[in-house]
Amino acid sequence: MHRADLSRAWGRILQGHPPSLSIEITTRCPLSCPGCYAYQPEHLAGTPLESLKDFQGDDLVRGILEVVDRHKPLVVHLVGGEPLVRYRELNAVLPALVERGIRAEVVTSAVRPIPESWSALDGVTVVVSIDGLQPEHDARRKPATYERILKHIVGHRIYVHCTVTSQMMERPGYLEEFMAFWNGRDEVAQIRISFFTPQIGETSREILTPEMRRRAVAELARLESGYPKLLFGDGMRKAYLDPPKDPGECIFARVTKCISADLETVVTPCQFGGNPNCAECGCVASIGLHAIGRHRLAGRVPVGSIFDVSIRAGSAVRRVRERVAAG
Ligand code: SF4
Ligand code: SF4
Repeated sequence: MHRADLSRAWGRILQGHPPSLSIEITTRCPLSCPGCYAYQPEHLAGTPLESLKDFQGDDLVRGILEVVDRHKPLVVHLVGGEPLVRYRELNAVLPALVERGIRAEVVTSAVRPIPESWSALDGVTVVVSIDGLQPEHDARRKPATYERILKHIVGHRIYVHCTVTSQMMERPGYLEEFMAFWNGRDEVAQIRISFFTPQIGETSREILTPEMRRRAVAELARLESGYPKLLFGDGMRKAYLDPPKDPGECIFARVTKCISADLETVVTPCQFGGNPNCAECGCVASIGLHAIGRHRLAGRVPVGSIFDVSIRAGSAVRRVRERVAAG
């Protein structure tokens, strides 16, 4: 969420609407990335994502817009699976969101061409997941290789999103090489960094040790001034080192409604689903809002506590509205 959206977000929260909506628009993905949370059994509490209804065509377009009109968010994150599998439907959905004054973010691997028309849509951002330098990325995210990404982003302004894993932290200088490559490209407007976020009890190789996490944060703080496209700041530095303790403390989780591919199933407690380890969370969205939440207005009141009161008030408003609607 952009800082400029904050006051509008408060309005939505007070009316009982989540300012941010995340929709898994398809169950399908041509990639099989190690550590992908969407296809883990715990993501939807034991129901495999692939077993949900996978809408297509007009049904998907109508379904997405119905969900959006019901929740009235400020921003919609369109995720998957791989959203570009449904690029034809997005060709209709994205202009409809722009018309409603809603910002949209399509989070993609750029495995196939990004439709040219999207670059002219004001308020639509394409976020391309690029996990490391070419050798590691290509091994993890084939067929969405560097070669394809570089071809498919021509003519667009994209945000790069990189999930840092322990493998990347094994080689000194890795993050700087990554930054140098992507910061220098005209197509890139911003670089966002997340750290791999495990489920509680998970032991996968991607998980950063506490020492790696501290080193990654220090490295990003050092790189910030030389690579202006990197999304970072002192508030984020602190938040990466001390993320929300649980979903109840996570502003991002509390203001974002996550809906899966059948357009009904709600993913809880956040986009990861299951039982994510907040203490090791590195999700850039959560970190960014955690940083804002800690900011003290007039040096006194933390923004987070105002969010907290507003969310409670909004929930009460929503309950009354639902009771009235139910007669
Ligand atoms: S592209 Fe995304 S949804 Fe597909 S396997 Fe990779 S992480 Fe999972
Ligand atoms: S986004 Fe991160 S901090 Fe927030 S609930 Fe999910 S795992 Fe926890």
